[in-house]
Amino acid sequence: MQDAGPYRQGISPRGLGQRHRVPARSSAPPCSALFLPVWLVKFSPGQTPRCETHLAPFIPSHGSFRAMSARSQRLRITVAGGGVAGVELALAVHDLAADFVELTIISPDPAFRCRSLRTAQTFSADHGRRYELSDLADDVEAQLVADSVIAVDAERHSVLLAGGDVVHHDCLVLATGARHRTAFRRALTFTGDESSSAFNDLLADLEGHWTRSVAFVVPPGITWPLPLYELAIMTSVAVHGMAIDDLRIQLLSPEPTPLAVFGPTASAAVTDLLDRAGIDFCGETHARATAHGALELLPGAVRLDAERLVTIPIMEGLRLPGVPADALGFTIIDDRGGVPGLPDVYAAGDGTTFPVKQGGIACQLADAIAEQLAVRAGVTIEPQPFRPVLRGRLLTGHGAQYLEHTIPGDAGADPPSEVQPWSSSHKVHGRYLSPWLDGLDHAPAPRRPTGTIRPAHTPLDRSPAGRVAVALDPYSPQVRR
Ligand SMILES: Cc1cc2nc3c(=O)[nH]c(=O)nc-3n(C[C@H](O)[C@H](O)[C@H](O)COP(=O)(O)OP(=O)(O)OC[C@H]3O[C@@H](n4cnc5c(N)ncnc54)[C@H](O)[C@@H]3O)c2cc1C
Repeated sequence: MQDAGPYRQGISPRGLGQRHRVPARSSAPPCSALFLPVWLVKFSPGQTPRCETHLAPFIPSHGSFRAMSARSQRLRITVAGGGVAGVELALAVHDLAADFVELTIISPDPAFRCRSLRTAQTFSADHGRRYELSDLADDVEAQLVADSVIAVDAERHSVLLAGGDVVHHDCLVLATGARHRTAFRRALTFTGDESSSAFNDLLADLEGHWTRSVAFVVPPGITWPLPLYELAIMTSVAVHGMAIDDLRIQLLSPEPTPLAVFGPTASAAVTDLLDRAGIDFCGETHARATAHGALELLPGAVRLDAERLVTIPIMEGLRLPGVPADALGFTIIDDRGGVPGLPDVYAAGDGTTFPVKQGGIACQLADAIAEQLAVRAGVTIEPQPFRPVLRGRLLTGHGAQYLEHTIPGDAGADPPSEVQPWSSSHKVHGRYLSPWLDGLDHAPAPRRPTGTIRPAHTPLDRSPAGRVAVALDPYSPQVRR
């Protein structure tokens, strides 16, 4: 056990809150022996060892902003970002060390947004629920600051906000996500945010027989490809439900085999799924835009002749001043989520150099960081190393396939299952996040009227041209009209 210095109180972690039922920790090997496919290992995490026994000095506030000064004997933790990693981190720290920490969450967005649900929502009348960060702040007794971090001063233990305030901390966790960029100008880029409703126009075109070929193109670069597979498969199911059988659907990717990151067993099952859906998979294919915006495929410089193109965004890091970053702006981290050279700064999620940009992985790293912070705050626990296990739920139009793979590479992994091997109805699997979201979903009503839930009887979306967008339930091939 590490020496937690003056914070050490010899207590056990808090009991679980009533709403949260937290499953056991993963037993996968630690991530230090990462083995990843070459096309993914563009940016491997730094391996600089961290000194966990060092405690952040309490430095006086410089006056401009000081959160909860009356409770200043606690470890002040600032979480920058209210997305997947930030919410998981805040919930985990609160569960482990609520009485020993003072949490501040900084987010420019007042809501937690779950991009992972968008693929399903595209095919259904359900526009989903909005999760307020103010509810999270209530639950974890945090101060919520509505602003963006624009610079980190690690020496002064402070962050500068876009609005001009300075927030001081003992420990900082950067969970600011990645910047999303369109890879191909002429393709429909499915970002998972509100703009993704443009996909409904494509479905309407297919229904109207205006389009005979669609190519789903995984761009070369840093991305999370699974949503594109879902879109391709669910599109195929949708058009078959419309009795259209002359649509050509292609899926092109730099990956050697479909969803290769999940390992050979799962990849073979996804290959089978694509075959059955009538989707042509073309692997080890790098698409690039020509001067006129068309796509050509490498190797071979073959022009892609599909009428419609669908892609997903590629990611770049935020490159926050004061934080070490790689060439693409991703925050450099070690194998425990620490930022090398900045002993009190950690980072988790898509914005880091960890090569797999996925919500579940973001949560697992956030959990590992939370345990280290709990120890620093004085809680007696044995922090577990970061042991990434990739868990994916691939919506298939008739249900879902559950894929699980230990990141260092377990070639003998179990085959995909149609039965969910982990609890939670959410597509992002977080030890704390999933039960928290489930709790909000099953609450009788939103705690505040947000006005964003679309009732079941709401008419379907209409495109500007007045065409009715096709809406399908991802769990059934029936068309709702
Ligand atoms: C279409 C799509 C579908 C996906 N499906 C899945 C899935 O099924 N399962 C899965 O596990 N993953 C999925 N992912 C990936 C998953 O969404 C990401 O890996 C995950 O959201 C990363 O979490 P994060 O906290 O790093 O970033 P985000 O969730 O993007 O959160 C970043 C947060 O930081 C805030 N922020 C930004 N800049 C600043 C700043 N300067 N200061 C303070 N705060 C800031 C943002 O407002 C936001 O709250 C999907 C992604 C996409 C695009």
